[in-house]
Amino acid sequence: MGYVDRYPDEDGYFGEYGGRFVPETLMPALEELEDAFKEAREDPGFWEELEELWRKYAGRPTPLYHARNLSRRLGVKVYLKREDLVHGGAHKLNNTLGQALLADRMGKDRLIAETGAGQHGLATAMAGAALGKKVEIYMGAVDVERQKHNVFRMELMGAKVHPVKAGTQTLKDAINEALRDWITNLETTHYLLGSVVGPHPYPWMVREFQRVIGRETKEQIQRAEGGLPDAIVACTGGGSNSIGIFYEFLDDEEVALYAVEAAGKGLDTGEHAASLCAGETGVLHGCRTKVLQDEHGQIRTTHSIAPGLDYPGVGPELAFLVDEGRVIADAVTDEEALKGFVMLNETEGILPALESAHAVYYVKKLVDRGELDRGDVVVVNLSGRGDKDVRIAARELGVSI
Ligand SMILES: *Cc1c(COP(=O)(O)O)cnc(C)c1O
Repeated sequence: MGYVDRYPDEDGYFGEYGGRFVPETLMPALEELEDAFKEAREDPGFWEELEELWRKYAGRPTPLYHARNLSRRLGVKVYLKREDLVHGGAHKLNNTLGQALLADRMGKDRLIAETGAGQHGLATAMAGAALGKKVEIYMGAVDVERQKHNVFRMELMGAKVHPVKAGTQTLKDAINEALRDWITNLETTHYLLGSVVGPHPYPWMVREFQRVIGRETKEQIQRAEGGLPDAIVACTGGGSNSIGIFYEFLDDEEVALYAVEAAGKGLDTGEHAASLCAGETGVLHGCRTKVLQDEHGQIRTTHSIAPGLDYPGVGPELAFLVDEGRVIADAVTDEEALKGFVMLNETEGILPALESAHAVYYVKKLVDRGELDRGDVVVVNLSGRGDKDVRIAARELGVSI
């Protein structure tokens, strides 16, 4: 084996996945970014500065919490990696601070990003405000309408939000507009991607920034248990919180790694977002990966109760690790995720993001299926807090608030 620090290769491939499938005009920008990140990665000064931001602005290290009541209910020993306690309420800031600091080093004073539900836009606005950068966010006009609350928060932080009226007026069209902006303003602008997706070097770079989750977890679980966990479970949209917590454990074969996708209304209904479980190899947003597509290669529409999991692709590294058999991909439905959401509130007084609730419920499925034994130790990556989801949850539970 030996996965750690072996991938991606020089061309940005994880096995057959990854690479750089973009128009010629974008190549110089990606090469400049790759060179800058390679240099920063070798510079202890860069990491000292980032670690200081992680510590004092983001609130790292996050605790690894032994969830006693949930453990009692499920019959296994559950630890929660509390990324929900990161400033902003999710792991996303780990990455946006890293990229904003890199942009600074590259002499770029402007950050652009695209956002669907608004979570990545918010994390970019925060990092931009913290580092004194101009921030412009592209968002489909339909999403702007649906997420007025998040738009207002971004604007309060000084970001300019551009509603994109082209096409379906959602994430896909926002990405196109953001790319157009980047090509036009390369000198001054960094395009800040929110997950381990897109063309090389993004999947590698974002993983390097999120890998702090697993590094902390490994130290914390060894201190608490005197050894490694039996399993780690993480919800998977683009895959940044999962690869982030998995990475430091990839070469510890005794630790089972579960990437939990959104099964939406059920994998057999077509209304889901499970690219690892049900996708096929294709190219999406500049990289080769597992993609949800129809028989003509058209990207399928996706569905999940959790906005952060609602994406038709997945990071190339996870696609590779699933093919290798190192990571096990599975999926949890909207209905099951809601049960996970209620269960964690009830047992621990912790309100998880609906994304993270997929991972919480999956532990129960592992126990029910006999894949975890009584007393086994399992770590759940609690990727975010659920304040943003209270309205959706109430509606789905039939409560009017
Ligand atoms: C964005 C988000 C996700 C999904 O993104 P990944 O890149 O798959 O980690 C998961 N959980 C929360 C709370 C999010 O905000």
